[in-house]
Amino acid sequence: MPILNRDDGLPAQLARRRDAAHRSEPLECGCRDPYTCYCREQVQRLTEHRLDGWSAAALHLLGIGLTPALPIDVQRRLWRRGGRDRRLVSELHTLAGVT
Ligand SMILES: [Zn+2]
Repeated sequence: MPILNRDDGLPAQLARRRDAAHRSEPLECGCRDPYTCYCREQVQRLTEHRLDGWSAAALHLLGIGLTPALPIDVQRRLWRRGGRDRRLVSELHTLAGVT
């Protein structure tokens, strides 16, 4: 049976993925499915350079009329930087309706 049968609906595909994950050896973090594991991203070091990239990308998206969704850890770090980055995070919260 092929892993992805285009005739199956999404619930059946997700169930097969979940079953496969349960049969797999756990990752170092304890998760079984690398597709849904975000542990590695959380430990990935957020350098100032990466924050600059997040900030520039978000400003670009705002400039073309889109609302970027930044990970919460990135937002926190940008907020702590202050200045333009803090204003950016405030604007994102306003756009998202976060009070
Ligand atoms: Zn994980």
